[in-house]
Amino acid sequence: MKDCLNKKQEECSKTSQQKSEKPKSSTEENKKGYKFSQKSLKLLDQCDTKLKYLFLEVIKEIDCSVIEGHRPKHKQDMFYEKGASKLKWPNSKHNLFPSRAVDVIPYPIDWKNIKRFKQLMKVVKKCAKKLDIKIRCGGDWFTFKDYPHYELKGK
Ligand SMILES: [Zn+2]
Repeated sequence: MKDCLNKKQEECSKTSQQKSEKPKSSTEENKKGYKFSQKSLKLLDQCDTKLKYLFLEVIKEIDCSVIEGHRPKHKQDMFYEKGASKLKWPNSKHNLFPSRAVDVIPYPIDWKNIKRFKQLMKVVKKCAKKLDIKIRCGGDWFTFKDYPHYELKGK
C-alpha cells in the first residue's frame, strides 16, 4: 500500500486491476481504501454538510453505501402507505433539502446481518463524537428499528 502510494498513478491502477482489488485511496489517511460509489456520493450530496463530513469520515473505517438522501413527496407518500416510514410528508427529515437524514447500509449488502448494521452504527457514533456532530440513529429507536437511518438532531 505504502509503496503503491509513492509510485505513479498508472502503475498503481495497473497492479490493482490485475489483482482485481478495491480501488486504492489517494490519501495516506484513508488506509483501508474504502470509497463511496458515484451513486452513494450523489445521494450524500443531497444531505446537510454535517452529514457529508460525517460519512466521509465513516467510509475511512468501514465500507458502506448510501441508499437514501433527500426523499421527495411521492416517495414519502409511498413509504408511508407501505409502512416503511411512520411519518407523513413533510415530517421526515429526509423531506428537507438539503436532507437532514441519510440512510446508510454496510457493504456488501446483507439485510439480515444486523450485527454489521450495529457495527456500522458504532463507527458512525464514534465519528460523530469526534466531529462534534449531534445525531440520532434509527437503530436506537425502540418502537421501530430503522437500522440504516441517521439524522441530525434539532431543526
Ligand atoms: Zn431514513
